[in-house]
Amino acid sequence: MNTKEIKEIYDRYVIPNYIRNPILLVKGSGVDVWDAEGKRYLDLFSGWAVSLLGHCHPNVVAAIQSQAAKLQHAPNIYFTEPQGLLAKHISEKSFGGQCFFCNSGAEANEAAIKLARIHNSNTGKYKIITFSDSFHGRTIATVTATAQPKYHKGFAPLVEGFSYVPFNDLEALEKSIDDKTCAIMLEPIQGEGGINIASREFMQGIRRLCDEKGLLMILDEVQCGMGRSGKYFAYQHYDIEPDIMTLAKALGGGVAIGAMTAKKEIAKSLIPGSHASTFGGNPLACAAGVAVFETIEKEGLLDNVKKMGSYSIEQLKLLQKTHKIIKAVRGVGLMVGIELNVNGAEIIKNCIRAGLFLNCTHDTVIRFMPPLNVKKEHIDEGLNILTSILSKP
Ligand SMILES: *Cc1c(COP(=O)(O)O)cnc(C)c1O
Repeated sequence: MNTKEIKEIYDRYVIPNYIRNPILLVKGSGVDVWDAEGKRYLDLFSGWAVSLLGHCHPNVVAAIQSQAAKLQHAPNIYFTEPQGLLAKHISEKSFGGQCFFCNSGAEANEAAIKLARIHNSNTGKYKIITFSDSFHGRTIATVTATAQPKYHKGFAPLVEGFSYVPFNDLEALEKSIDDKTCAIMLEPIQGEGGINIASREFMQGIRRLCDEKGLLMILDEVQCGMGRSGKYFAYQHYDIEPDIMTLAKALGGGVAIGAMTAKKEIAKSLIPGSHASTFGGNPLACAAGVAVFETIEKEGLLDNVKKMGSYSIEQLKLLQKTHKIIKAVRGVGLMVGIELNVNGAEIIKNCIRAGLFLNCTHDTVIRFMPPLNVKKEHIDEGLNILTSILSKP
């Protein structure tokens, strides 16, 4: 089918809750994606940071193919090897906790919210504090946790027990904690909110407040985790450990999966019957996740993220010097934001037309999140396209 034919089917049969570019994608390999008419695109956005190893990494493909022919689904009343091995990878690369598996970022955060509440069910504490410009998902509880009014519009009444504080404002946070507060939840590097990096003082301050007041520190690493920051998890830049952490997006290297990991003494509050997910931890998705961890290790990708991340930021800062339209460049590893003085929607449209996938978030911030195995030549190619578009009057 061609683009026009599929578009007609969508117009008729698919709910129009997304603004879609008129492009029919048919295949991908590494940083390259092709449409039905054979046009090639350079993907330096990775579909919201999902395609962590590029499209169709051979190790991920092999893991899925082999697992698909063995066992695709098993109910969680049995054991499977991929789920156990993936939990081991997550735990050993983070803070030694235990994992619960689900299928998306929102579900992972929903699990974290439920765990924080059930863990405190004897204390009567239930309130959770989140931060301005955060993004935690689209279920009714996680959208309530998301402190951006535009995502709340039309969905009232929201869930009780959430309050919001300005990001990176430790003083305001301390004031807003009361005797019903049970947890503080944040992204160490805000993605949707415009690539905003938590300060060291803020992250360490939150840890200290949580320790002093007996609160849970929940980190949402759905977007910034899995090596994107140059360390396995973004919190590892701050010399602290959270109590609960959530993952999704990149965890399956392209396959739908989410996970929550929590310190053992907290995790045990999620007693049998208290929470579940039918597809959570299915062997197919977990086999992909195991392949992702093994590939990051085998290919030394954290090192590549550090190198390619510094190179990208350096080049973008040079571009900023000659292009007044760029207000700021900020990022950690390969999670980079280019803040413009104008709305970036039109610029992104032009990039896509010119064969480059990037994204604009929070109206003015271009998100640059190439796969972890990106090469200098891909970055150069992408920045050349971006430069020519930003240079047009
Ligand atoms: C994308 C995202 C989510 C939601 O993930 P879904 O898989 O879309 O439910 C939650 N938190 C953060 C930080 C995200 O970037």
